[in-house]
Amino acid sequence: MSIIEKHDKHIMKTYGRLPLAVERGNGVNATDEDGKKYIDFGSGVGTNSLGFCDSDWVEAVCKQAQTLQHNSNYYYNKPGADFAEKLCGITGYTNLFFGNSGAEANECAIKTARKYSFDKYGKGRHTIITLLNSFHGRTLAALSATGQPEMHNYFFPFVEGFVHVPANNIEELKAKIDDSVCAVMFEYVQGEGGVVELEKSFVDELFALCAERDILTIADEVQTGAGRTGKLLAGEHFNKKADLTTLAKGIGGGLPLGICLAGEKCANVLTAGTHGSTYGGNPVVLAGAAAVLDKVSKPEFLAEVTKKGEYIRTKLQGLDEVVSISGKGLMLGITLKNKKAVDVMKAALEAGLLVLTAKEKLRLLPPLTVDYESLDKGLNILKEILQ
Ligand SMILES: *Cc1c(COP(=O)(O)O)cnc(C)c1O
Repeated sequence: MSIIEKHDKHIMKTYGRLPLAVERGNGVNATDEDGKKYIDFGSGVGTNSLGFCDSDWVEAVCKQAQTLQHNSNYYYNKPGADFAEKLCGITGYTNLFFGNSGAEANECAIKTARKYSFDKYGKGRHTIITLLNSFHGRTLAALSATGQPEMHNYFFPFVEGFVHVPANNIEELKAKIDDSVCAVMFEYVQGEGGVVELEKSFVDELFALCAERDILTIADEVQTGAGRTGKLLAGEHFNKKADLTTLAKGIGGGLPLGICLAGEKCANVLTAGTHGSTYGGNPVVLAGAAAVLDKVSKPEFLAEVTKKGEYIRTKLQGLDEVVSISGKGLMLGITLKNKKAVDVMKAALEAGLLVLTAKEKLRLLPPLTVDYESLDKGLNILKEILQ
């Protein structure tokens, strides 16, 4: 039986997979079982932020795996302590919680927001406003938070206390704020929702409204964080620091890691016994994440991410088939004139290029380390398909 047949026989078919079994990768290049090479402009949905098997990341991970692969959260370990110190130092947050995924990071933020409000105001102030078209994860609370009504199916009853408003519509947001609201949760650039950027004026007013009423801001930076948009956190584009920020995807460099960052207000909300995760803070994962953070926090590196994003835009903007390009840094959404993004994705796979879609758009999330030669190669493949 082939890999694909075996896979499909035994693994639940929860994904619309493309017919490719990646065997190995190196930098921006992936190779399948037949030796066919692909240029990767998807980075495993933004997880492989340093590309495949970055040598510093591999060395850190291997060294840690040979030293201590895990200890329980009843004890302490050095990779966790060092990484937390470094990430807090750079971002200005004071405390964090380690989980294993974006959904878990968001669960932590949701629980923190509700407990903050419960501790201070008592029961009933628990509503979290999120944006339509958002994506916050697949666990029940994160799915309930996700503002995509078509996903709110089958799994009833969903978690109560989530209200959705359209992105960039401050009047609708104002209308939904009442005494039951404890937090507003948003992505600065909606990823799965189609690479939709929040407007600066909307973000400014959202923060002002929340500050007036002691409503917490929760920035879901699972996709936008870790340098993806040309800043370590996308909030920097807006000069904003949310009360809680969640990270996952790129910060782990390809190993499962979710982080909920808390500022002073929420630093001590979660106490012993109120939250936890057996694997959260795993030392191998964090040794790798430290190698990621070392690179993606450097201003020169981030400037390059911005430059490469602009390079992609200038190469694609003139094409007749390209209507517009949204996003920031190396998180780009391309609106096509006549072609379907899914068809382009399939044709690209055939031609040796891995790309993603987001709603009706083509989505590019190349490794942040991608070189210009590979960018040219990949973009030439894409141009040929689009022309
Ligand atoms: C991918 C994603 C999630 C969910 O992350 P998982 O690791 O799949 O749980 C949550 N929020 C955003 C913005 C995402 O892009």
